[in-house]
Amino acid sequence: MKLFPPTPLNERLATGLAKLGLVMKSKAWRLASAEKLTPTQGQILTQLLSQGPGGSTLQELAAGLGVRPPTATEAVSALERKKLVVKRRDPQDHRLVRIRLTRKGAAAARRVSSWPDFLAHAISRLDQREQASLLGALTKMIRHLQERGEIPLARMCVQCLYFQPNAHRDPRRPHHCHFVDAAFGERDFRLDCPDFQPGLITISQRRQSKCPSQVTPTEPPRFHARK
Ligand code: SF4
Repeated sequence: MKLFPPTPLNERLATGLAKLGLVMKSKAWRLASAEKLTPTQGQILTQLLSQGPGGSTLQELAAGLGVRPPTATEAVSALERKKLVVKRRDPQDHRLVRIRLTRKGAAAARRVSSWPDFLAHAISRLDQREQASLLGALTKMIRHLQERGEIPLARMCVQCLYFQPNAHRDPRRPHHCHFVDAAFGERDFRLDCPDFQPGLITISQRRQSKCPSQVTPTEPPRFHARK
């Protein structure tokens, strides 16, 4: 009998992820076109929705989507014409123009961004342990891709100013979030946190120093619901 030809595990996993990527792309595309939007316009609405009422600058939108600023400018102008977004001067810094969702834009953004629900449903078929290890693996992969400059900065704990790794002895909750001032474990890691602040120093630098002043939050800690 012939031996079953081996295919490296990493290649099979990459194929699986590519298949998921294709399904997600086509779902996002379909939802955007149902709203008469291009995929980039749909992604901008989704990003603005997760950003909250403060909105985003054009540069932040372009960086978050991994597109060039002219592409983001064109998509934002089209959304403005459709009355889905408005541009306003930042009240704290008048040099900045922030793009915000209108009421109509927020409703469209909620419809367009509902596509991950089907994925969440598929993930719920995994047990708690499988979900936790998938989260750990995804966090590691996204961080690696970001470090290589292959995907834009995501609002993840591991790159957040408020994140202090291994701050506690409890193996279930070894890390600390200075924003909410609470201990948490790997299963609580967030991949798109609205309270994320880009870290000013690297994680390894923080590990070497126990000085909490290095991760002092810029605003008083307050509790927020975890995603
Ligand atoms: S603020 Fe959000 S991203 Fe930052 S450490 Fe806390 S939970 Fe993680």
